[in-house]
Amino acid sequence: MKTEPVNLTDGLLRSVTKPARYVGGEWNSVTKPLSSDLVRFAFCFPDVYEIGMSNSALQILYYLLNQRPDTWCERSFAPWTDMEQLMREKNIPLYSLESRTPLSQFDWVGFTLQYELSFTNVLNMLDLAGIPQLTLERSAEDPLVVAGGPVAFNLEPMADFFDLAVIGEAEETIEELIDLYHQHCPNGRTSTWDRSAFLRQAAAIPGVYVPSLYAVVYKTDQTVEAIRPLDGTVPPIIQKRIVKNLNTMKRPDQLIVPNTEIVHDRMSLELFRGCPRGCRFCQAGMIYRPVRETGVDTLSKQAAALEQSTGYDECGLLSLSTSDYSQLGSLTDRLLEQFSGHHTSLSLPSLRLDSFTLELMQKGSSTRKSGLTFAPEAGTQRLRDVINKNITEQDLLEAMTLAFKGGWNGAKLYFMLGLPTETDMDAQAIADLTDSIETLYRGLPRSDRPRRLELTVSTAVFIPKPHTPFQWAPQELPEVVNKRQQFLKERFRNRPVKYHYHDWHSSLIEALLARGDRRLGAVIRDVWAKGQTFDAWDDHFKLDNWLDSLEKFGLDVSFYAHRERAEAEIMPWDHIDCGVTSAFLYREYQKALKAKTTPQCRIACSQCGATTFEGGICFGD
Ligand code: SF4
Repeated sequence: MKTEPVNLTDGLLRSVTKPARYVGGEWNSVTKPLSSDLVRFAFCFPDVYEIGMSNSALQILYYLLNQRPDTWCERSFAPWTDMEQLMREKNIPLYSLESRTPLSQFDWVGFTLQYELSFTNVLNMLDLAGIPQLTLERSAEDPLVVAGGPVAFNLEPMADFFDLAVIGEAEETIEELIDLYHQHCPNGRTSTWDRSAFLRQAAAIPGVYVPSLYAVVYKTDQTVEAIRPLDGTVPPIIQKRIVKNLNTMKRPDQLIVPNTEIVHDRMSLELFRGCPRGCRFCQAGMIYRPVRETGVDTLSKQAAALEQSTGYDECGLLSLSTSDYSQLGSLTDRLLEQFSGHHTSLSLPSLRLDSFTLELMQKGSSTRKSGLTFAPEAGTQRLRDVINKNITEQDLLEAMTLAFKGGWNGAKLYFMLGLPTETDMDAQAIADLTDSIETLYRGLPRSDRPRRLELTVSTAVFIPKPHTPFQWAPQELPEVVNKRQQFLKERFRNRPVKYHYHDWHSSLIEALLARGDRRLGAVIRDVWAKGQTFDAWDDHFKLDNWLDSLEKFGLDVSFYAHRERAEAEIMPWDHIDCGVTSAFLYREYQKALKAKTTPQCRIACSQCGATTFEGGICFGD
């Protein structure tokens, strides 16, 4: 295999913004001597360096793969448009940061898919690397292109572009894939190795999905009639993999420390995976079930190792809902004691409204810097019951009272617009709730509250996601969402409230891609061919390009985004088993429509199906 590094001249790096994105050489980045039997894996994040480097999956898998003497994992990120232009002008292929090796020379090119709006960036990175975009066009000389991350739970719109995908937590699966690859290519890839035999054997590994081994048949009404494996050797259903015991898994004792500012620039500890709450809009809360916790001793040891190996002076706590960690008090006490005298501080993420305490918040140094954030998600109790967000207005007002008395002068409040069953009244209630906070503030004695009130209200547009109870629900029409956004904008005019809202344009395409099928592959490629990338960046997103391409291929955005789906409809992702049953999700959808709540796992088990994993919260762990 050729290994000549690409040549980056100083002149080129001086011509682009943030050159540190493109040079590597960071503390704890890994280099290895080359040998013919070394498996080379390029971990790719389809967005800019600052975002990709903040992704914990990248740091975990990088560490894990590089622990193997037979494997070298390197990194690559999407170049910003200025760098891309220069790379294309000077014929510089996309390369890895560690050795500046063109990605086309790797054995594996792996993308983590964290959001659907990164799809055009994936295609752009493959093209810049000189790797054929379509799996059908790849030969024995090309790398294997693998996907992972939450979006892989419905990979169908990108099925034509990925040779395989890892469904669920990749820690164990990826090692099994590398072992299998070694059996096929013991001395490195040759031009005659049997790629298709490898893919067939890979498909037999639990948690591995090989899209090209499945055929999709559509009905005349455009819905899916069947998703069939090509023959009896391919499993009809792919069940996700999880790490059962987080205490015994290999966890990083070092992290790459970037040379430039990134979004989350600190060490972080993963308290648990999964979420016990069951918010009906939340895909992560469903696909990562059951909850599995890491013990205090394990986290404390990891924190000591990371502090030593990185020099970071800030430690974040990572999970879907930190206040649900059963040993939060003892963990924070232990860490603060351990960090005392080192100038290392603890950074606490936003807490649930019903578990907000000043004692806890005062343990976190960064909370005051970044301010408080709360997510009531909906304005009325009825709508919060629809989404199973089990918090009340009283919880919000009590948390704000504590916050004002503790010296905070406000908070950022996050809501969604366009939730199933939402009416104009529910949108109006967002403003009423904010009024209640203002009234509360003014009602407190001056000595008990800060001098100035500052509230920020943000509304995102609801996107029904696969593998959630709302996978059957239609997305609200743009004109309705727009009307409610404009109403709130007016209501907050001349008030001590800043209102931010997210434009519906990109949310519409996110809904299209999230619940899409294989026919969208041609659309995504067509949009990319028009030069569109960085769809997740508002100033780069162009709705017209998407609508034109959909029309060109005879597809309708409403079919995917605005149509309520029948209970019996086969979803494009029904062959992917996330561990939570369809029957449970549909039960939850019906309860939602009646505004009935479901208790969280620690109060009562609602038989979601995750017991099949035989561990975690379902068994009292
Ligand atoms: S089986 Fe019960 S306890 Fe386990 S994740 Fe599902 S609802 Fe929670």
